Amino acid sequence: MKRVVIVRYGEIVLKGANRGFFEDKLVSRIRNQLKNYEGLKVYKKHSLIYVDVENFEEREIIKKIKKIFGVILVSAAHKISAEMEEIKLIALQELQEVTTTKNIDTFKIVTKRANKKFPLKSLEISSEVGSYILQNHKNIKVDVHNPDATIYIEVRDEAYVYSEKIKGYGGLPVGTGGKALLLLSGGIDSPVAGWMIGNRGMQIEALHFHSYPYTSERAKEKVIDLANVLSNYVGRFRIYSINLLPIQKEINEKCKEEEMTIISRRFMMKIAEKIACKKNLDALVTGENLGQVASQTIQSMSVINESVTIPILRPLVAMNKVDIINMAKEIGTYETSILPFEDCCTVFLPKRPITKPRLERILSSEEKLDVECLVDEAIKNMRTETSDGEW
Ligand code: ATP
Ligand code: MG
Repeated sequence: MKRVVIVRYGEIVLKGANRGFFEDKLVSRIRNQLKNYEGLKVYKKHSLIYVDVENFEEREIIKKIKKIFGVILVSAAHKISAEMEEIKLIALQELQEVTTTKNIDTFKIVTKRANKKFPLKSLEISSEVGSYILQNHKNIKVDVHNPDATIYIEVRDEAYVYSEKIKGYGGLPVGTGGKALLLLSGGIDSPVAGWMIGNRGMQIEALHFHSYPYTSERAKEKVIDLANVLSNYVGRFRIYSINLLPIQKEINEKCKEEEMTIISRRFMMKIAEKIACKKNLDALVTGENLGQVASQTIQSMSVINESVTIPILRPLVAMNKVDIINMAKEIGTYETSILPFEDCCTVFLPKRPITKPRLERILSSEEKLDVECLVDEAIKNMRTETSDGEW
């Protein structure tokens, strides 16, 4: 008998001719994530991925695998020979293990027989193992509809017995869908946006704007902390930081007060586009959401879009705030996001930002600025760091 972790992936299976590419990527993501466990074996067999965890820290390994995009279910199983006597014994043992952590009055057996040469059919296996458990375990009943515990048996070349199905996040392995530049503020939304885009298989890098010394060093550290949490899902990535203050000062001096927000947003996009182009990134990602704040209107988004030609992805655009907050809690970014540090957008914040900007007016205001020169100057002073994470 051996301990093994079985990893199931969902959507990838649907990918037709590209399936092999997605599967290989997922296996290599898992290997990469677990590279510190020397000698650990990860392999694919019949559309499942197995990790031989005998003598390794099983729980730690499961926690890591659960975070890898593409994974839908993770189970830690006993791998045994495909013989009824052994299957019965181990199924009973598995149930006894469950009873040490949970009060159990009822159970059921679910069997999958992938090896069609095995002499008993799935239902026959379930029924025989179920009877054996009833004979050998006190005070327990079968309940096929709503059991307290389910014991899963899979009969392949070997047999696998387990009782737990831990949910992963599904999606596609990072690195199968191009690269994006995430505009990462210290808020709740942008880390969630980056996570969602990573879940669609994109690799990310991040760009942060600050207004040092108006914004503090601590505010920047907060962004790095968020990037580190995100890295546990999408891998380590580069964080570019840019001081927006000289641009904000210039806008403040030359443009109307209420245009501050929209014009600085357009600058952010232009800078982001230029960096994306230099670093070979395919799209920008923001945490914008329709109607969440006064400046996030469709009119404002159109005027922002017009500043660049690179696609701007807004994965949260139609989500409810409550759902975004719940996601941030699940990912582990929420507690950091709500720390009260100032953001660059709060510097020179207009009393009444325009909510329905008109493109011609914004363009004519921008004529008072040397846009290109300001953008280049900002990029010249860019700093680059790398996030820290599990892989
Ligand atoms: P968040 O919670 O992500 O800060 P928000 O609800 O505060 O978003 P805005 O402040 O309008 O909304 O920002 C919208 C988006 O613009 C952010 O989600 C982020 O992608 C980008 N953004 C805003 N401020 C910054 C910044 N300082 N650095 C990088 N990107 C930023
Ligand atoms: Mg914000």
